[in-house]
Amino acid sequence: MSKFWSTMVKRTEPYVPGEQDNRQDIVKLNTNENPYPPSPKVQEAMLGEMKRSLQLYPSPTADELRTTIGRRYGLTKEEVFVGNGSDEVLAFSFMAFFEPGQPIRFPEVSYSFYPVYAKLFDIPYEEVPLSEDFTLQVEQFFQSKGGVILPNPNAPTSLYAELEHIEAIVKNNPDQVVIIDEAYIDFAIESAASLIRKYDNLLVVQTTSKSRSLAGLRVGFAMGNPALIEALIRIKDSFNSYTLDRLALAGAKAAFEDEAYFKESTEKIIATRERVSATLEQLGFHVLPSQANFVFASHETASAESLYKQLKEEGVLVRYFNKPGIDNYLRITIGTDEQMERFVGKLKEILNQ
Ligand code: PMP
Repeated sequence: MSKFWSTMVKRTEPYVPGEQDNRQDIVKLNTNENPYPPSPKVQEAMLGEMKRSLQLYPSPTADELRTTIGRRYGLTKEEVFVGNGSDEVLAFSFMAFFEPGQPIRFPEVSYSFYPVYAKLFDIPYEEVPLSEDFTLQVEQFFQSKGGVILPNPNAPTSLYAELEHIEAIVKNNPDQVVIIDEAYIDFAIESAASLIRKYDNLLVVQTTSKSRSLAGLRVGFAMGNPALIEALIRIKDSFNSYTLDRLALAGAKAAFEDEAYFKESTEKIIATRERVSATLEQLGFHVLPSQANFVFASHETASAESLYKQLKEEGVLVRYFNKPGIDNYLRITIGTDEQMERFVGKLKEILNQ
């Protein structure tokens, strides 16, 4: 059997996304999705597109969506790339900007897709440990040989690195590309997109999966200097010149055009996050100060694995982490107030509080 496998296939170690559960009435707090539906304007736009134009190929250049996203950040479409979820945008970025033989750096505790891509594309990597308080050791990302990638806020720690730290990393890798993966940035203080015109080696990657409630539509994007964007377009065109279908283009554009809805739902999630963090602390958890749509917490006595298992039996799905550097932690996605009440209720029963 193995003789039919290419070296490329042997190198792969697929990423395993969070588990699904088909039980009805499950409280699903394990994959950092948004608990609220997308703006009603998304549905309207997609229905309109369905009625009118599905027999036609979509725009290969996605100009309208790129212009709409760019406008929000004061950028032009030449500074914006769109792809099929930020996972695909990240894969194209690894292909475009990182090279075999030149080790890249990312935090030891960060998004588990990075080592998967690095192995797939044969890119060596150095994992930079976090500080004891889980913050980035900023200077250890300076002068990398092959480039840097890091999530901000970090996943699964939920911690946000201030823009001055991000800028220092970009500045101290002048000949390499620094990719800031901002999947959760809309729940945080400030995006690094404001630095794009200052640094031609900065690529900021974002997604509509979290703050815009469109995980099911698969639309991610990157912002950077036109030369970086041009490189991504060339890679994309070598695979599939269309990438995003008509429904995704129309739906994502409508989501960006309804800023009021976006603001209301992100603010709601942030308020719930603050309340849940305080409650967890009262229940004996150490909770990291989250700037994301999830919290990362460790109980003073109870094991994360056992809490995860007991919660699962009670119909509440969360994730637990038991690996070097993040031993005994639960990662809990912020759901609706109702879902969080159920989660806290079950947790209190399990902890006998
Ligand atoms: N980056 C990080 C840090 C993430 O946690 C995720 C979601 N799991 C992604 C990127 C990918 O998101 P998507 O492909 O849905 O845009």
